Amino acid sequence: LYDRDGFIWHNGEWLPWREATTHLLTHTLHYGMGCFEGVRAYAGPNGTHLFRVAEHTRRLCDSAHSLDIPLSFSAAQLIEAQRECLGRNGLTNAYLKPTVYFGAEGLGLRAKGLTTNVMVAAWDLGDYVSATASREGLRALTSSWARHHVNISLCRAKTNGHYVNSILALNTAVKAGFDETLMLDPEGYVAEASAANVFLLRDGVLHTPEVTSCLQGITRDSVIRLAREVLGLEVQERRITRDELYTADEAFLTGTAAELLPLRELDGRRIGAPGREIAPDSVTARLQGLYRRVTRGDLGEDLLAYQKWLTPA
Ligand code: PMP
Repeated sequence: LYDRDGFIWHNGEWLPWREATTHLLTHTLHYGMGCFEGVRAYAGPNGTHLFRVAEHTRRLCDSAHSLDIPLSFSAAQLIEAQRECLGRNGLTNAYLKPTVYFGAEGLGLRAKGLTTNVMVAAWDLGDYVSATASREGLRALTSSWARHHVNISLCRAKTNGHYVNSILALNTAVKAGFDETLMLDPEGYVAEASAANVFLLRDGVLHTPEVTSCLQGITRDSVIRLAREVLGLEVQERRITRDELYTADEAFLTGTAAELLPLRELDGRRIGAPGREIAPDSVTARLQGLYRRVTRGDLGEDLLAYQKWLTPA
């Protein structure tokens, strides 16, 4: 990833990609105390746009504030950096990673006078999973690793260090031959996948875990709105047990990178109707289609209200 042309925004300056390095004693490298976002840009009918960049940037600022990391850039400046990052790198369909981290001015846990650094890098993002997986769905394994607890970490903050837990869970599942992992909260209720939120449909009602252990996903929010406002579905945010997923009519994952992916199997139990591909008239397929249209700016009359989620790059 580091040997290529392009520019990375760093504290207000544009660094040539290959020169965008940092010191080995960078505090965040040692303790994971930092926060980041994952944002997507798409090619639309009127050029490239960022999807819900204001909400992502707000979550980044909230993460930094909760972690008590002082930020010297405003949300508006950070949005501008993300917009410009696309043009500077000639990108249309892209993944952007704004990241806030401490510098190398000190290394103990008590280090004082650390500078806050902010960077924005962007690159082409192919599909998160194959087109087949996106139609046929993923096979997941419930993890033996619990997701974070509100009294152990700040679950609403997208903290770098949180992802050790995600990677441990994901690697165990992938080594065992699964596509994804399902993580439970410390009490055993369904939390989320390694980097995506989870939903289930039963008797026409959509259910998703309340935001305690799981990240307050922006795709989760987009999908809840599309389900309620466009499909007229009831959506409940509440505690969910793993057997509810086993016996769901449908289930899917949501995330900026993952978008909306069907969950077809959990711990060897098939979820929903038999058949290789999810039915085109299923709620999963319809929400997948709506999410696809909204993110790509293919709005039409029915989705015009969601224009507000698109920021021209
Ligand atoms: N949970 C975790 C742990 C994640 O990393 C992500 C990806 N950011 C999500 C959920 C989904 O969040 P979003 O829809 O905002 O990308």
